[in-house]
Amino acid sequence: MDSSHDIKVWSIRNLIPSTHPRKDTLLVREKLVEQMETGAVVPQGLIAHGRGECFDYLLGERTNAFAERSIEAAAALLLLSSYPVISVNGNMAALAPKELVELSKEVHAPLEVNLFYRNEEREKKIGEILRDAGASEVLGVGIDASETIQELFSERRKVSSRGIYRADTVFLAMEDGDRTEALIKLGKKVIAVDLNPLSRTSMTASITIVDNFIRVVPKLTTRVKEMKNMSKDELQRIFQSFNNKDNLKESLKFISERMSQLALSL
Ligand code: ATP
Repeated sequence: MDSSHDIKVWSIRNLIPSTHPRKDTLLVREKLVEQMETGAVVPQGLIAHGRGECFDYLLGERTNAFAERSIEAAAALLLLSSYPVISVNGNMAALAPKELVELSKEVHAPLEVNLFYRNEEREKKIGEILRDAGASEVLGVGIDASETIQELFSERRKVSSRGIYRADTVFLAMEDGDRTEALIKLGKKVIAVDLNPLSRTSMTASITIVDNFIRVVPKLTTRVKEMKNMSKDELQRIFQSFNNKDNLKESLKFISERMSQLALSL
């Protein structure tokens, strides 16, 4: 990246006063814009992020009790899985690369680049971000993505034979519904992070964590560390007692009750 770009990023960061009530949100946006300029994030990724921000607003921008429960179920499933894989897109790599690498190490799940708008340059760029964040290996880059998921027709059908192709559980975020459905049809379990409880991904995944990806990843890693010594039976009990539809219903009820309370307080 040239120095004029560095100066631009520096000056935008410094233009946001530390007292700005939405400073964190603005800094996250800057991170995405920076990575769009490197080619890791596509413009459509910014639009998807905007949709997410809107739901985060409705959810109160915090991890709610229903999300804590799905994080616990997700930690149990990751610990029970024989070959979990973390599917990474541009937004995920831009927002929490170090945290993804930490999760990957904690659950021994490889990181695999899988993109809706795929090209080798983008794959390499995302691989580079993850390696700079500490990943020793990143799957799904170039010819490594040589297997295909028959259920899909877009570029996302290309997967790594060492990764998503043989995974029993796939962790993903900010993903579209087609791909989640395809993975489920292939008999895989899917853990999805999605702020929109109404998306097809949320409705289809085995476990949906209705919360912001940035908050979820470190919390999930912490939960995995805490639950590592639990017996298989105990982990199974936690996973089996989780019902995704019920959890989604809770998130919708939460939004609706929160909106009613806010309307009364105006
Ligand atoms: P579907 O095809 O599943 O119905 P969609 O058409 O909304 O979903 P996309 O726009 O590809 O699919 O997905 C982006 C999803 O990611 C949106 O549901 C959005 O709410 C969510 N999202 C965006 N940013 C975040 C974030 N930081 N954390 C969690 N979810 C996010």
